[in-house]
Amino acid sequence: MKALCWHGKGDIRCDSVPDPKIEDGRDVIVKVTACAICGSDLHLMDGYIPFMEKGDILGHEFMGEVVDVGRANKKLKVGDRVVVPFTICCGECPQCLRGNWSVCERTNRNADNAIKAFGYQTAGLFGYSHLTGAFAGGQAEYVRVPYADVSPIVIPNGIPDEQALFLGDIFPTGWMAAANCEIEPTDIVAVWGCGPVGQFCIKSAFMQGAARVIAIDNVQERLALAQLAGAEIINFDEIDGTIPDRIKDITHGHGADKCIDAVGAESHATASFDAVIDKVKAATLLGTDRPHALRTAIMACRPGGIVSVPGVYGGFLDKIPFGAAMNKGLTIRTGQTHVNRYSLDLLRRIEEGEIDPSFVITHRATLEDGPELYETFRDKKDNCIKVVLTP
Ligand code: NAD
Ligand code: ZN
Ligand code: ZN
Repeated sequence: MKALCWHGKGDIRCDSVPDPKIEDGRDVIVKVTACAICGSDLHLMDGYIPFMEKGDILGHEFMGEVVDVGRANKKLKVGDRVVVPFTICCGECPQCLRGNWSVCERTNRNADNAIKAFGYQTAGLFGYSHLTGAFAGGQAEYVRVPYADVSPIVIPNGIPDEQALFLGDIFPTGWMAAANCEIEPTDIVAVWGCGPVGQFCIKSAFMQGAARVIAIDNVQERLALAQLAGAEIINFDEIDGTIPDRIKDITHGHGADKCIDAVGAESHATASFDAVIDKVKAATLLGTDRPHALRTAIMACRPGGIVSVPGVYGGFLDKIPFGAAMNKGLTIRTGQTHVNRYSLDLLRRIEEGEIDPSFVITHRATLEDGPELYETFRDKKDNCIKVVLTP
């Protein structure tokens, strides 16, 4: 089969690789009908995530048709249409039982190494590194889905792929980021980053009842889409003064009630992961010339407010003003998304027409065009916001 494979920093290829097979009774094999490229894939492309190996199959946003089912799997049958959440969950460990799906304790086959290297582990993830289980991803014609009797979301035939696909990651990610803000009817919510995740944060903040949303980025087309959703926008390249000052100006001097960092590592470091680690060791990590999203979010939040961080950080944080967070009495919430908590509710909202998640899609292409589209998405060429690939 064809699959998009990682071959090193900036080097993604469409390779011919062996088809996956059932390895455990709970597995299914999915024939992928649509998959997407995510900002989290860019961290791999940019070399921020360690322990990738040449030839690893990428992709954690995918859906398709079940074509083979392991004997112990009582949930799915051949022919089912499924969206597969990006975190792999066992459904039985203490964290899964608590509903903390993205920190499942059993599905990361490399948990010992992750703990040795970083002091923590996440659940197994599709299309990610050998510290998160090294599970082959879904930017491929076929994918093996382990523990497939837990998370996959069965999609009714009336909902097209493009409306359902984002239920596996960026829609619930935006939703959880907003839910973590405990939005009240008078709230002004500021969102850093108008990439696909930021766009779903903005929509979700409005759906959860925010009075106003302020969107921050420097890519005009992305700000325009945020504006279309009803957000007020700040282009950080075009303002005089700092982002917190600008936010104070438009919030009657108070600051934003709730702040969401939907940027993550992108605003954090320009160097490779190794260089970042060296700098962490030397305790001299410098920011970049762009305003650091999380730092500005903390500074722009009103006292007693909430800062919610869906943006991914690789275990290191530079110059975070923790004293400001402490003295303002902020609540900070973060995490990989617990997709299963939200998937059925969000599927219902799509079915009822409350939202059509395909609004973020700007590019459609085949798997073979994937390597080029990775560059288009990373470099925000051709007004690109979200890429969907059909194998
Ligand atoms: P993206 O790279 O397309 O979007 C990031 C956006 O942030 C871009 O539009 C960029 O111009 C903007 N930006 C960069 N620096 C900024 C700054 N300092 N201030 C304001 N805006 C800035 O990525 P995406 O797909 O939207 O993903 C966003 C983040 O969410 C990534 O870190 C990704 O890894 C993460 N993510 C997290 C989860 C989760 O489970 N928590 C799931 C999916 C994605
Ligand atoms: Zn993703
Ligand atoms: Zn578990």
